Amino acid sequence: MTNKKDSSFLGSLLGRKKQQEPETKSANNELFACLHSLSTIGEGRDKKVDREIQTFKKMVKIGTSASDIQNQVTAITKALTNSISEDRSLLLVEQFKNMPAVILLDEFIAQPISNEIKIRLVNYKRSLLKDTLATDTISDLIDLIEPLDQQSKTESTSLNDKIFDPKVDATKLNEIAKPLLDLFSQIELTPTQTEELQSMKNRSQSMSELEELCTFIDDVCHLILSFIATSAGRFESFLTQLKQRLDTVNTCITQNNDTNQAIAQCSKTFSHCVSTQIGNIQESLSSPSGLSSLEKVVTSSLENIVDGIGRFDTERKALEDESTNRIQALQEELQKTQTETELLKENLQQQQDRALTDPLTKLPNRHAYNERLHLEYNRWRRYQKPLSLVMGDIDFFKKINDTHGHLAGDTALRETAQILLQGIRSTDFVARFGGEEFVMLLPETKIKDATKAINQIRKNVQAHTVKEGSASITLTISFGVATFEKGDTFSSVLARADKALYRAKDKGRNQVCVQMKQDN
Ligand code: GH3
Ligand code: MG
Ligand code: MG
Repeated sequence: MTNKKDSSFLGSLLGRKKQQEPETKSANNELFACLHSLSTIGEGRDKKVDREIQTFKKMVKIGTSASDIQNQVTAITKALTNSISEDRSLLLVEQFKNMPAVILLDEFIAQPISNEIKIRLVNYKRSLLKDTLATDTISDLIDLIEPLDQQSKTESTSLNDKIFDPKVDATKLNEIAKPLLDLFSQIELTPTQTEELQSMKNRSQSMSELEELCTFIDDVCHLILSFIATSAGRFESFLTQLKQRLDTVNTCITQNNDTNQAIAQCSKTFSHCVSTQIGNIQESLSSPSGLSSLEKVVTSSLENIVDGIGRFDTERKALEDESTNRIQALQEELQKTQTETELLKENLQQQQDRALTDPLTKLPNRHAYNERLHLEYNRWRRYQKPLSLVMGDIDFFKKINDTHGHLAGDTALRETAQILLQGIRSTDFVARFGGEEFVMLLPETKIKDATKAINQIRKNVQAHTVKEGSASITLTISFGVATFEKGDTFSSVLARADKALYRAKDKGRNQVCVQMKQDN
């Protein structure tokens, strides 16, 4: 009876002993998989971190030893630490060069302003990126006050005089403030910042003196800075969290290795116990003492073995449980990190989308147009496929505003934008260039086909009626078409499209004109 029990215990022990190795391996594999996804989350943020993660991935793939992997995790953690503690300016430049606040500044820069002011704005942007905004840069920005309305395109010097004219009236001041405030609708502000923006909006309605405008611009700058600070803060705390989690994984690997060693030690002690007891039995077998004494020795040895099995089982189970719990906790942590990362990525994406969209028409804005233009231009240079560029401008739009009110004007802009969008192919591109002006890019479209398509769009705009309250408004639009020709830069083509548009206006509006290089 005792014998039977023993052999089953021994059998199960042997069985478990065999299983022990793959189990440990699978625990480590699970751990590595965990670590793998955890470190992947940190990818794409910092070049140095990325390099370490790449090395780590290779090591996991080829099955490098746990201690090497551990060293590599330390390297990732170190790179992350550096990325967090690195000069804040670098972090800002690297991580935030595409962030909305900078895009916001790019929007300022893209406004029709004089070169001198542009240079100052660029310097301002630089100081913003370096986070070394000195008081004199703020006052420099205050100097940049310029009305952003259409006339500013033509005479920037005379405009400067106009702005600093002490007799400047409230509507004029509001006209300057509004486009600045509108730019903020493209980014996601914190509740406090939104409150601040609202109070600035209210204040801008009642501005009557130039001084007030200066303070207002000053507030705009502060809001931009505060926005950058919160975005950077959010990202930094994410990195810090990620670093902490990597630290936890690292500790977990160490502890797991300790557990594995403890299990090995446990099994060694048990083997020793078994061989001692078996040695005792063998000794009794070879001694000439009686059968009853042999039976005693065998019984007591087997009891010792059974005890050993019990101890070994309990100890090993405790150690394994410990390890399983650790891995489970880690997986939960990982799940949390993944959810947070998804949210953060989504949030960044939303902000970037918003920064590239015109809030009124929902068309891509000028910044988006610049990006797309670069892309299409490079494609054109590489493949030499035709690429046409179109400028459109609603005719007598000021009159629509004057007759039917600004709200009706806004509706007309929105609906016209939709007609333009519906008239082009999905590979084409249309953006609101500013005010009542639109710009289109038509890849793989020869000038003749572009003109034909645009002429149809012109007819569609003319046939459409905008309804606002009791008013029914019809409007027309003029277009200038140009195509990329040998030796063109994007500004030379834009200039030609603009020239063609000017001609369409000059010839009586509601028409499409073309300007080829040779016509210049
Ligand atoms: P033209 O045929 O020569 O283009 O004449 P126009 O009146 O269309 O051109 P002008 O440049 O004199 O006026 C453009 C007007 O568009 C002035 C400006 O108030 C108005 N505008 C610009 N942006 C908006 C906007 O977002 N909403 C509304 N309602 N009007 C806008
Ligand atoms: Mg215009
Ligand atoms: Mg117009």
